[in-house]
Amino acid sequence: MNKIDAQRQKEIQQAEELLFAGPQALGFAKGLFQGHFVADWVMPYPRIQAAEQSELDQTLAELREFLDRDLDAVEIDRQEDIPRSVIDGLGRVGVLGMTAPKEYGGHGFSQMANCKVLEEIGRRCASTSVFVNAHHSIGIRALLLFGTHEQKQKWLPKLVTGEQLGAFALTEKEAGSDAANVQMQARPSEDGSHFILNGEKRYITNAAIAHELTVMARTPVPGSDKTAVTAFLVTPDMPGFEMLEQRMPKMGIRGTATGRFALRDVKVPKENVLGPLGKGLKVALTVLDFGRTTFGACCTGAAKTCLELAIRHANTRKQFDKTLGNFHLVKKKIARIAADAYAMEAMTTVTAAFIDRGLEDYMLETAMLKVFTTERLWECINDVFQIYGGSAYFVDLPLERMMRDARINQIGEGANEVLTSFIALVGMRGPGLEFKEIYDTMMKPSRDGMSKAWAAGKSRLGATIRVPDVPVRSEQLRADARQLGRLIWRFNWAVNRALVMYREPILDMQLIQERIANAAMDLFASTCVLSRQDGEIQFAHRNGDAVARDHSAANLFLRQSFRRIRRSLAALTDNDDGAVIAAAKSCLTSGTAETAA
Ligand SMILES: Cc1cc2nc3c(=O)[nH]c(=O)nc-3n(C[C@H](O)[C@H](O)[C@H](O)COP(=O)(O)OP(=O)(O)OC[C@H]3O[C@@H](n4cnc5c(N)ncnc54)[C@H](O)[C@@H]3O)c2cc1C
Repeated sequence: MNKIDAQRQKEIQQAEELLFAGPQALGFAKGLFQGHFVADWVMPYPRIQAAEQSELDQTLAELREFLDRDLDAVEIDRQEDIPRSVIDGLGRVGVLGMTAPKEYGGHGFSQMANCKVLEEIGRRCASTSVFVNAHHSIGIRALLLFGTHEQKQKWLPKLVTGEQLGAFALTEKEAGSDAANVQMQARPSEDGSHFILNGEKRYITNAAIAHELTVMARTPVPGSDKTAVTAFLVTPDMPGFEMLEQRMPKMGIRGTATGRFALRDVKVPKENVLGPLGKGLKVALTVLDFGRTTFGACCTGAAKTCLELAIRHANTRKQFDKTLGNFHLVKKKIARIAADAYAMEAMTTVTAAFIDRGLEDYMLETAMLKVFTTERLWECINDVFQIYGGSAYFVDLPLERMMRDARINQIGEGANEVLTSFIALVGMRGPGLEFKEIYDTMMKPSRDGMSKAWAAGKSRLGATIRVPDVPVRSEQLRADARQLGRLIWRFNWAVNRALVMYREPILDMQLIQERIANAAMDLFASTCVLSRQDGEIQFAHRNGDAVARDHSAANLFLRQSFRRIRRSLAALTDNDDGAVIAAAKSCLTSGTAETAA
């Protein structure tokens, strides 16, 4: 078994373990909430293995040549379609089966290598990168992770070449952000040979062009009157599959086919169940973890395009007898885009490496990556748009398209508000349980409770008195590393304080959650930036280079990120939350804009 195959086995095992969630190693983000710096997962900065790197370099060269020649993002947007020739070309380069095992015809790439491929596509055309994500990152992901050998043998070979396409169908009218509220029903047939599916799905990328759709539907839980979500492989040629709308007209990523379909008494053989019965929600969440990682890669690519466009215009457009780049308010925007693009790439690489290295639980990190990169990309596009002035508004430049395209990122694959709340609540769960242990024992002392409370108290106290060590190898980064350690300590202190102060009501206090999640995201982003810088400096030393690459953008990112963390933590106590809630409540209860504003 080669290394990639071994990694894949681990990946599968990891996904399976998630389904039967047992105790797991402390992940990086969860560690932050406990006041720990779990260095092993983030340092040293991950590198693609030499053998895979040379394969990746070759693939990227081939991909660039193909994209330069055959990908016309303007035309895709205008025609609202990705031509079959482009899909075929992506298939030839291997993009549509990049991480699929070689035995099924895939490229067998790691997530890190796959992210580099998606970054390249994201640089040029968001429609195409979303199409690839829908097909590969989520469409066939459940099959890759949870499919049996027979299922993979049957379905994968045509899917990984692009001869057939995949889609991932979770969303319904009543199941948007509330993904668990899937209403589509899957009733087992009397002889147990198949399930009968009924219901509708909407907003599904690739629905009308897919040959295989991973569909989430409710199955009965044996021995109870409850139902649970199960994943099914559905094909559009099954009788009762009805395409309600092939291409819903939309604002951006217009090249993608976003559709609506209904299943009316569709008989799906039991052999098409993906993963265990009733575990479809966990299948879906695991699949989305992969989608969010490549989402980060696509946003990184787009941010690099923003930087290139900004530099080009700022160096050529003259006003007041100077090129725009001479003005500090333009410089500020360019510096910010450069800093964010550096951080986005670092975060994507580190998160992808979690998957490759078999970390058991990276849901928090993928959520952080998704929220962080999509929000930063939106800012990057806004900044470069402003630098181009009036010209950005016209359709002969790519900026208005990039802006239209980027807006979905903050909504799709989990709206950022939902993920922000998730980050804070899942992160706080660990320390929250320890506090509960202590509190419960104080209220109702018992011998067993005392020992658990003692352990919990020791852990909480330990985190409160110890500033975690951030182990960088480069001397010039030590001060930043110390600052990061202190900020993690302050963050932990603030989390503890919020838990003690608000107790259970914190579950509904999204304004508090947002600040905690924002601080956590910046701590993660800063860690990735520091790790990347450290890796690049060390690499330059090893190669005998006199100077490492210019790190002014990375340095700026750290300064700004540290400042944001301090601000988020300070705002936990100094804020206008009461007034915000009161004003919103007044609007919502008055029911009209007239009386409220
Ligand atoms: C172009 C496009 C492509 C898509 N592709 C796919 C696909 O391939 N497969 C698929 O299954 N789905 C797909 N989706 C669906 C997408 O994942 C959902 O749109 C998304 O999950 C949000 O659901 P919703 O649109 O129903 O919004 P709602 O759930 O109605 O939410 C609307 C807004 O309310 C706020 N909100 C909701 N819940 C909370 C909360 N708990 N706390 C705070 N604020 C909250 C958020 O601001 C959110 O943006 C696609 C959507 C689009 C637009």
